[in-house]
Amino acid sequence: MPWCEPCAKYFVPNALTIEGGCPKCGAVVGQSDINGRSIDPLVTAKTLDLRALASTDGQDEKAPWHFKLLVSALVIYISWRVVSLFI
Ligand SMILES: [Zn+2]
Repeated sequence: MPWCEPCAKYFVPNALTIEGGCPKCGAVVGQSDINGRSIDPLVTAKTLDLRALASTDGQDEKAPWHFKLLVSALVIYISWRVVSLFI
C-alpha cells in the first residue's frame, strides 16, 4: 500500500496521480507490501506491462485432463440427444 511520508498517510493505488505521486503533496510515494518492504519498480498506469504479467515464462498452458474428459462427455451426450430425436 502506497505510503506518503510527508503526509503520514496511506493511499489506495487508484488515489495516486498518474506518475505515482501523492495527490496532496505530489511527492513520489513508495509502494510497500503488507510487511512494509518496498516494491520496486513502482507500478503505475504508465509502467504497467500487461504482456509481462500475461506471459507464462515459456511454459505452454495445457488444458487439464478433467476439462478434456468433461468436453468429451458433453460431445457424447449431445450426440446421443441428437440421435434420440430420430429413434
Ligand atoms: Zn503526501
